[in-house]
Amino acid sequence: MAENYQNTLEYAQKMDQEDPLKKYRNEFHIPIIDGQQVIYYTGNSLGLQPKRTRSFIEKEMKDWELFGVEGHFNKKKENIWYKYHEYGKDAIAEIVGAKPIEVVPMNNLTVNLHLLLVSFYRPTAKKFKIIVEKGAFPSDQYVFESQLNFHAFHGGQKLFDPQEALVEIAPREGEDTLRTEDIIATIEEHQNELCLVMMGGLQYYTGQFFDLKKITKAAHKVGAYAGFDLAHAAGNIELKLHDWDVDFASWCTYKYLNSGPGNVSGVYVHERFANDKSLPRFAGWWGHDEKERFKMEKGFIPMEGADGWQLSNTNVLGHAAHYASLEIFKEVGMKALRKKSVLLTGYLEFLINEFNKQEKIFEILTPKEPENRGCQLSLYLLKYGKPLFDELMKRGVLGDWREPDVIRLAPVPLYNTFEEQYLFIEKLREAVEALK
Ligand SMILES: *Cc1c(COP(=O)(O)O)cnc(C)c1O
Repeated sequence: MAENYQNTLEYAQKMDQEDPLKKYRNEFHIPIIDGQQVIYYTGNSLGLQPKRTRSFIEKEMKDWELFGVEGHFNKKKENIWYKYHEYGKDAIAEIVGAKPIEVVPMNNLTVNLHLLLVSFYRPTAKKFKIIVEKGAFPSDQYVFESQLNFHAFHGGQKLFDPQEALVEIAPREGEDTLRTEDIIATIEEHQNELCLVMMGGLQYYTGQFFDLKKITKAAHKVGAYAGFDLAHAAGNIELKLHDWDVDFASWCTYKYLNSGPGNVSGVYVHERFANDKSLPRFAGWWGHDEKERFKMEKGFIPMEGADGWQLSNTNVLGHAAHYASLEIFKEVGMKALRKKSVLLTGYLEFLINEFNKQEKIFEILTPKEPENRGCQLSLYLLKYGKPLFDELMKRGVLGDWREPDVIRLAPVPLYNTFEEQYLFIEKLREAVEALK
């Protein structure tokens, strides 16, 4: 990086002053512990609350109060509930690089992964394998385990051996992250049995962003589908799901998308499946043809596009919070967000490397190249272990501890500052002193 980073408070403050997105920090509630604003590095776990979210929810509370059930259709109401899932489509499509018809907010992430696998994991006795990165997020691992068992033993027959079905790609000896060439080689190696490639788009533990375009292309070449869990990618990096030809994806909205704890997930299904009625799916009335929905008749006719995967009517209060956050993303745009993100994460990396020159305590697991990572740095602790993390917490640094020895820090461009990165190093110095 040609960036002329400097290890001084003045430099950090100057960067904040020149930051085109600086006003957005004040759009968020920053948690206060012991009378002090924390340095919040856990936006990859739960994004902070936008101040405008409350009014979005209160509006729907008011309409519920005024209209009751009529809120679904009443023309006097802005944003009727019957259409409520549609209002964020443009913004969502922009964030993940899709067409509005390819996306819909619904359910929660793990639920959606199962629903998408109903359509996109169609094993036969010959083609039944799934490729995934080793150490995938636990919920995803349970999804695979249960899907494999569900399909392997159908109707009392054994279709395939579930133990053989999951191919996990690990880094090479002495390396922390995956090489694209190794992923592609694995796809080719298993091509005759491969049914699906499904990976975390941005790996939650290492912070590595995979090359979705190349992986998708390699999967398609051998007749397999390619889908991604974008929990750590959506709202973090620029995505082009449609152009990259990705078949399906899902993400949660409570991490970088700041929509509130446990809130709704997003789903993407490529346009080529928009009217594909041959794809099996689990159906519900909200996925059924809108014009026919209230005829309450038998015979499922799916809505066009991602809408056709919906099951239930919309959780309006949750979606309202999602829309408040989407409004901010629409104002800022992923391009500007990403631009700051690269600078901010680079600055934290620079400061950590400077600190390491005095006393080497960290190894950074996350790739060095900005194009291979988002805003998270995963630090492997060579010394001091969990007590160091606890000392940092005591000093108002809210990071994330992962066994056995990893601290994950995510400087989020919407609300974290350059000055905070500088202050973090000061607190780190104090924490290390306290342990000596
Ligand atoms: C956060 C996260 C989840 C969480 O799933 P929920 O169904 O929303 O609880 C799943 N997968 C990945 C990769 C995650 O990072």
